[in-house]
Amino acid sequence: MPLLELKSLAIGYGHHRVLEDINLTLQRGEIVTLLGANGAGKSTLAKAVSGLLRPQAGSILLEGEAIETLSPAMRLQRGIAHVPEGRQIFAGMTVAENLALGGYAVSKADAAAQLETVGSLFPVLRERMNDIAGNFSGGQQQMLAIARGLMAKPKILLLDEPSLGVAPLLVAEIFRLIVALRQQGITILLAEQNAKAALSIADRGYVFENGRITLSGVAKDLLESKEIAERYLGMS
Ligand code: ATP
Repeated sequence: MPLLELKSLAIGYGHHRVLEDINLTLQRGEIVTLLGANGAGKSTLAKAVSGLLRPQAGSILLEGEAIETLSPAMRLQRGIAHVPEGRQIFAGMTVAENLALGGYAVSKADAAAQLETVGSLFPVLRERMNDIAGNFSGGQQQMLAIARGLMAKPKILLLDEPSLGVAPLLVAEIFRLIVALRQQGITILLAEQNAKAALSIADRGYVFENGRITLSGVAKDLLESKEIAERYLGMS
């Protein structure tokens, strides 16, 4: 049974239908990437999975159980954490305060254990626990956003455009971290415009176009596909 399964999902904003007939699976321990141009609906899909948007049709199964009517808080408790596009960290708060908010739904013991894990994955954050997050670089803020998501001890981490607004050197670091997270047993759904970097660490990918999934497969095959190269990898 897949860890997460989306079945015939339709999602939109009021009368504006953004995604139609989305069928997608996430197996335990996978990194799966969502690819598509700006506005293709990757963020919309992530919001539907975490519960920020209610799907207009279809179902979302977590370990075989329908969760599409559960609140975002309930889904977080079941193990789905969302690291949104644009990071949305609390800029006026310290690193420690941001992390504490990420761990609000787990027990004190779990939060303490997660803080240890986060500290070893992100030494830069451990060194700056009492610094105000708003003073950090884009890349460091992105690390904090991911670390905050991890505080909830998730099974699934939804990462929306983690490379956006991050200096190239730190982008590579963030992608290395995503691989390290998978080694910790976390399953990752990664929405990215940086198709090449995303496919190079992913197991599988889905391509979104005109509100539908138009292509999907093993990441290595997608990387070698002419169609993908022309449209998303800046080659022709
Ligand atoms: P990006 O990387 O730019 O976020 P994306 O693939 O994640 O691209 P979405 O942000 O999911 O795309 O947007 C998909 C479509 O939904 C776009 O046409 C966008 O205009 C529309 N949309 C997004 N948010 C809203 C909203 N709050 N209300 C109405 N329409 C929206």
